[in-house]
Amino acid sequence: MKSSEIRQKFLEFFESHGHTIVSSSPLVPGNDPTLLFTNAGMVQFKDVFLGQDQRSYTRAASSQRCVRAGGKHNDLENVGYTARHHTFFEMLGNFSFGDYFKRNAIQFAWEFLTVTLKIPQKKLWITVYAEDDEAADIWLNEIGVDAARFVRIDTSDNFWQMGDTGPCGPCSEIFYDHGPDVAGGPPGSVTAEGDRYIEIWNLVFMQYNRDSNGELHPLPKPSVDTGMGLERISAVMQQVHSNYEIDLFQELIKAAARITNTQNLNDNSLKVIADHIRACAFLITDGVIPSSEGRGYVLRRIIRRAIRHGYRLGQNEPFFYRLVPDLSRTMGDAYPELIAANERVASVLKQEEERFAETLEHGMQVLENALSQKIKALDGETAFRLYDTFGFPLDLTADIARERGISVDTAGFEQAMARQREQARAANKFTMTEELNYSGDQTVFHGYDALQHEGKIL
Ligand code: ATP
Ligand code: MG
Ligand code: MG
Ligand code: MG
Repeated sequence: MKSSEIRQKFLEFFESHGHTIVSSSPLVPGNDPTLLFTNAGMVQFKDVFLGQDQRSYTRAASSQRCVRAGGKHNDLENVGYTARHHTFFEMLGNFSFGDYFKRNAIQFAWEFLTVTLKIPQKKLWITVYAEDDEAADIWLNEIGVDAARFVRIDTSDNFWQMGDTGPCGPCSEIFYDHGPDVAGGPPGSVTAEGDRYIEIWNLVFMQYNRDSNGELHPLPKPSVDTGMGLERISAVMQQVHSNYEIDLFQELIKAAARITNTQNLNDNSLKVIADHIRACAFLITDGVIPSSEGRGYVLRRIIRRAIRHGYRLGQNEPFFYRLVPDLSRTMGDAYPELIAANERVASVLKQEEERFAETLEHGMQVLENALSQKIKALDGETAFRLYDTFGFPLDLTADIARERGISVDTAGFEQAMARQREQARAANKFTMTEELNYSGDQTVFHGYDALQHEGKIL
């Protein structure tokens, strides 16, 4: 089953259960200046959940474009390392605004997975928040899931909150078992870090309002917010383990291989490039442009990572922008705005590639030289020089070093930066140093699991 069909089936299923289909909102949240990027389906409904906005419907479903790179939700460091994380992905979601609650949410999810998609029940694992007896009872006694594949979890993974105060509540997550060929233990176990059991769907039950004393008060009208990654459920349906093996990604990987003249389709750099072209093209479509701070700096960091992977594959000329037509072909049907922005996207990318090309090669020589010195950690001075003189964002340097098992002295980097600022100030000169501590990262909204990824911007 193709990804586009799964997206379609999901929306049709929830429409047939009284949900209004709402289109994806842009990646730059219109209602929340404190949030870096739209990172979940619920973002465009935040005010509805808070009771500050009214809609003509109480049930909605969407396929929301999301970016998790920077801010509290930062999966950038996972790309190229796990089978399941992207910087850009699509989140399928169904929402109840004070309408149905746990029973229906669980029934809908189970029916969609096991009846509509016909996923064998024995491949699915269920987690609930440890104290949530109500959800446990529905799963075990009404749905009848096997207790052997049911886990109570008492960590923040299964308790969602919008912020330090406000709506919050327990979650129930559904995992798919990719089988014994893949390493990793079941959810909640000590070996759960592996990729055998992959979380596909998170059901959030907004049940309480947390006051400023930290006390929980029941919400008069509990709500539901769910999210399922389209790429992860596509991997399940296409019987592949990694998201990068699904139809949508394979087309992009082939395109990247063609453009970079790469024979080995399993080369990790192709995956990273395929991931990054989606994030970059959609960010530019939604109005972000590369810059030295805020959202634009996140975009610049992703573009430069992609360029460096191209360089690794032997590309010395701009290549990344040439993927834009291929991306439009694979995703333009679902996102016509992408096609409309095609030329602008390509020209912004090309410009950024030309700009970085001026310093990339020289910077790589400096870095290669330092990394070949049998060191455990790259010193902060060199990392800062790469940043300041050659336009290497710190996370790019760290990513390259990580491939050799070498870390970066980030404290030393910050010291070098502070020293340079001080010198500039002393000389009463205007400093052109790029601002790292951009305000866009100071997000108040924590998404699903703020505690899970304290995504530090490097
Ligand atoms: P994980 O624990 O695997 O990082 P998560 O708990 O952070 O996932 P949620 O915040 O619960 O994810 O998001 C809801 C769903 O969105 C997940 O169940 C998953 O299917 C999907 N998802 C989350 N992050 C990503 C990502 N970086 N790339 C692709 N899909 C994702
Ligand atoms: Mg999780
Ligand atoms: Mg989750
Ligand atoms: Mg996560």
